[in-house]
Amino acid sequence: MTEATPRPVRPEGSKPALSAAIATVEGERTGHPRHASRVRDVYDRLAARYGPRGWWPADGPFEMIVGAILTQRTAWTNVEKALANLKRAGALSPAAMRALSAGELADLIRPSGFYRGKARKLLAFLDLLDERFDGALERLLAAPGDELRPSLLATHGIGEETADAILLYAARQPFFVIDAYTRRTFSRLGIRPGGDTYNAWQRLFEESLPRDAALYGEYHALIVEHAKDACRAEPLCDRCALAGVCETGLGRHQVAGDERVVQDAAADDEQVEDLVVAEDAGERVRPA
Ligand code: SF4
Repeated sequence: MTEATPRPVRPEGSKPALSAAIATVEGERTGHPRHASRVRDVYDRLAARYGPRGWWPADGPFEMIVGAILTQRTAWTNVEKALANLKRAGALSPAAMRALSAGELADLIRPSGFYRGKARKLLAFLDLLDERFDGALERLLAAPGDELRPSLLATHGIGEETADAILLYAARQPFFVIDAYTRRTFSRLGIRPGGDTYNAWQRLFEESLPRDAALYGEYHALIVEHAKDACRAEPLCDRCALAGVCETGLGRHQVAGDERVVQDAAADDEQVEDLVVAEDAGERVRPA
């Protein structure tokens, strides 16, 4: 594993340690007492089923950031091809990428789809890096998350999900990533925030868990694995580690109605279109 790859929350083969960690922050929690114990229980069940995921696999934080932008609206297998092109061209550093013309960059990332637009997004990120952080990636990554997040969101092509993926997996700061998988799985489980906004979903997790970037990173990766393995568009409840604690798995909730809720909630999700397309094609839509 490279230095950019998040460390697993716990050593492989050991028992999930979340319950013990929770005890240290129990008194600080004010947000979602109704859901907190279930959010923790789901983590423990998924960790027991799938083990440490060790996200995000990348040769350094810049490659991780580039991957987070390229994975918008496409399957991860296509991102891997684009990253391989960039690597072969020696363009996976801010300085080397900056030296490319927009056309050269677009050609290299062509396999990721929407490549002209994504080239503009990558160049916009480089502009942010140059203008706010003197071109020094380590300065950007060391910036306080509450200051960096608005800067990322003000950058062309970076929405909440991408910004939080960068904050969590490249800068190792505790921002929980919400995507269509998360909304779908937890809506089916019957664990929903009061409002169906990105912020409401994010608060549900962040107020239910210790503020721990490694834990957040591991949990998001487990959700993605679970959504690919069992909680698909057509859920495979009979093979699901969560069937015993899931409203849908227990037959208390209709999937069809649930799907409508998730579709509405995820209407502006950066990944939702690709989620549907890639799942139908049996493709990965995130690193694995
Ligand atoms: S029991 Fe079914 S609906 Fe519930 S989380 Fe598992 S796969 Fe999804």
